[in-house]
This record gives sequence, C-alpha cells and structure tokens, in this order.
Amino acid sequence: MLSITKLEKCPCCSSENIVKNGFTKGGNQRVLCYDCLKSRVLHRKFSYDFDFEAVRRSFLERMSLCGVTRVFLISYYQVYKELNLCFLLMPNFKTQVAKKQQVGDTLEFDELCGFCQKKKNKQWIWAAISRNTRQIVAYVIGDRSEITFRRLIRKIPIEYLKSQSYSDYWKSYAILKVKGNHEQVGKESGQTNHIERYWATLRARITRYVRKSLSFSRKLRYHHLVTKLFIIDYNQNCLSTLF
Ligand SMILES: [Zn+2]
Repeated sequence: MLSITKLEKCPCCSSENIVKNGFTKGGNQRVLCYDCLKSRVLHRKFSYDFDFEAVRRSFLERMSLCGVTRVFLISYYQVYKELNLCFLLMPNFKTQVAKKQQVGDTLEFDELCGFCQKKKNKQWIWAAISRNTRQIVAYVIGDRSEITFRRLIRKIPIEYLKSQSYSDYWKSYAILKVKGNHEQVGKESGQTNHIERYWATLRARITRYVRKSLSFSRKLRYHHLVTKLFIIDYNQNCLSTLF
C-alpha cells in the first residue's frame, strides 16, 4: 500500500521544523515554529461564517450544544458567544405579552421540574398561561417553595391578576385563595390542560428538558437563557396568530 505523507510548513518562514502547540480558543489546532518562534493555525476546522438565525432555530428544535457544533462546524466558544449576544438582543418579556385579550381571561398555574448539572440540583420552572392567547404571561425558575411562587405572582401583569385562575393541589398555590377567584383542581377536571400541554411542547422541543436523556444543562446561566429563548419565541408565535 502506498501512502503519501505531506509535510506541513510554517506559513511565515516555510520551515518544516514545527510542532503542535495546543488549540486556539475557537477550537483550531495551533502549531509552533522553532525557527521563527511564531504560532499559527494551519488548517481551520471551525469556520467563523455561519448563520446565527439557523443556530438559534436549531436550539429550539431539540438540538444539543454538541449537535450544533458538529452540524454548523463552529466551536463551543462561538456558540456561547453568540448565545450571550442573542440574550442581550432579546426583546423584553413583558412587551411580548398581549395586552388586549385580558378581559374574561383564565390563567392556569403549574410548575415543571428540570435540573442543572446533577439531578439533585433541581430547577423548577413556574409559569402562568393565558387560556385565551395561549401565551406564558409570567414565569420564574427556582426551587419549589412558596417564595418562588410569590416571585411569579409579582411578575404577573396586574390586569391578569383579577381573572379566574386554576392550579393543582400543590401547597404553595393555597396563598392564592385569598384572591377569591382561584380554584385548586385535579388533572382529571381538565382545567389545567393548556399548561400541561405547554410542558409537553417544552419537553419535546428543548433537549435539556427531555426526560431520561443524556442532555442536561451544565451551567445555570445557559439553562435560564435557553428557557427564555424558547418562551419568548413561543409567545411571539402566539402573538402573530392573534393579530
Ligand atoms: Zn516559521
């Protein structure tokens, strides 16, 4: 069998006296030349030109971060960098919630379990969904205590607080009884169907919420970020079907 060995040369002085010298921040192999003492990248594995909108859409269709780097041939560093940029440019959550459909609307409350880094580090996502618009009017991520639920209530727009609401029998929801128009019901009543269906969509679309899979959030920051990315995108889609 004939094999051809191609000798790599230093791009600066054309010397063959070069060795591998770690990786760049972007994941490309770096080489060091012993003659001119310069370190360079010979062959770029990861490109710098990509369509971030396509990357953003793939995050919302159950693709993991590893999957994104393999499909678009971009490094982890770039994905994190672009995600952070996307987070800065994201529209304000409150501006994406419909203002016109608030009279006679019904709210459904529920919480869903997720985790960050290990199963013991549970991150509960609490949300209130509007039955008329199917939008998430407020959400928070935290533990399963009453304190987190109070944080959620503070985030709900004041007009929605007057409307009828339903939740399951979890003890934290009992504080809403003073409001007068809140009912704690079982799943069989069908009054929390919309929020339960929403969780099914979230679990199907975001890889880190898929049960019994290897995907999970390593950093809490990106757990929050990808969740917000999904909720805002979903709210925008609901908004576009309304008007
Ligand atoms: Zn050189």
